[in-house]
Amino acid sequence: MDIRLYNTLTREKQVFSPQNPQRVTMYVCGPTVYSYAHIGNARPPVAFDVLFRLLRRIYGEDHVVYAANITDIDDRIITASAETGRPIAEITALYERVYREDMAALGVIEPTFRPHATEHIDGMVAIIEQLIAKGHAYQGKDGVLFHVPSMADYGKLSRQPRDEIVAGARVEVDAGKRDPADFALWKAAKPGEPREARWPSPFGEGRPGWHVECSAMAKAVLGETLDIHAGGLDLIFPHHENEIAQSECAHGKPMARYWLHNGFLSIDAEKMSKSIGNVKLVHDLLKHYDGETMRFALMSAHYRQPLDWTEALLTQSKATLDRLYTALRRMKDVDADDVDAPKAVLAALCDDLNTPQALAKLSALATEANKSPERDWPRLKGEMLAAGRLLGLLQRDPDDWARGDASEAQRIDAMVAARVAARRAKDFAEADRIRKELAAEGVEIMDGPDGSTWRKA
Ligand SMILES: [Zn+2]
Repeated sequence: MDIRLYNTLTREKQVFSPQNPQRVTMYVCGPTVYSYAHIGNARPPVAFDVLFRLLRRIYGEDHVVYAANITDIDDRIITASAETGRPIAEITALYERVYREDMAALGVIEPTFRPHATEHIDGMVAIIEQLIAKGHAYQGKDGVLFHVPSMADYGKLSRQPRDEIVAGARVEVDAGKRDPADFALWKAAKPGEPREARWPSPFGEGRPGWHVECSAMAKAVLGETLDIHAGGLDLIFPHHENEIAQSECAHGKPMARYWLHNGFLSIDAEKMSKSIGNVKLVHDLLKHYDGETMRFALMSAHYRQPLDWTEALLTQSKATLDRLYTALRRMKDVDADDVDAPKAVLAALCDDLNTPQALAKLSALATEANKSPERDWPRLKGEMLAAGRLLGLLQRDPDDWARGDASEAQRIDAMVAARVAARRAKDFAEADRIRKELAAEGVEIMDGPDGSTWRKA
């Protein structure tokens, strides 16, 4: 079955054809870890988690390589450190852990790679050196700048007029620009900035600009041309436009073949903002709503459409999940057939990730199960579970869901997943800390060849 995806670069829905079906690559811009993630931040990880699951279903689990970065050096992180007096590494480690736990609670599979910006400084320096050597970058007063007029097709992703490009670039370092649209690749260290926020380089001590971080990390873990590069709509300009400029001028080939962008999320029909005071943090929402209910709500609109986050949406999402789990509960003593997700669900997802349609098909399966004779239950249960796996839903014990203590189990699942990730990253101190925290609640982790499970003492 062909996957068709809307490509922001061509403004068309196109049949997806990877460079190498044995190694399909996808990169999604990840969080800057200086604070808690809000629900708008959770939309890309959930939307592109569905794509990751679909790609794995089509090309095989071992043939899809997905990287989502962690930006652990940034002006906002330096500010947070200065304001709280806490070391940068402590702030970034804390908020990365919270982020991973929050995403796991939303049913997001851990990406294949989670590159950290601070671990790829050499790669960023190398790209900047290449850009200088090829005449695309120059040393300004406060660091190194990319010279926008040096790239003939700059602006091809956002298709912005020149005055908007200039306006967008003004937030960057200004001093010594040859062109008002030029943007920072390397920011010279300022007096008083902490030691841990500066690195030596041929262009003097300093730190990378945000855009070049992604260019270097994507190249290091996935290669010079990605199959899919994705993120929120707000990243098209300047972030993705500038990633394209850096990577393509340095490497001489396309940075990515399919560019995907998810739509905005509003709260009760208003823009989420600190000034309105309506910012909803995932971490807080999880205290009141089940992670699976929140995931369902995030998937209820097509990823490219705006999504309005309301109490009514959550209530309705919970009610639909109740109905689905009730159907599974009726069939709980039946062994599910080992079947694939129904064609209609697959076809909906293959059509530019049409999750609302896939969820409707899933609901129709529950309706069918409710009126079918018992002899049809093994197939219907198998189809519901397979569709659920593809969507990241319905994988819990229906009795747990009915008891309402599922969120407790999910919270522990998320902590166990965070510990697995920490061990994989060889952060054994963090893995041990999570194990002790769970042990204090009477939860014992059992590590086996197929992964980690847990039980309550
Ligand atoms: Zn990025």
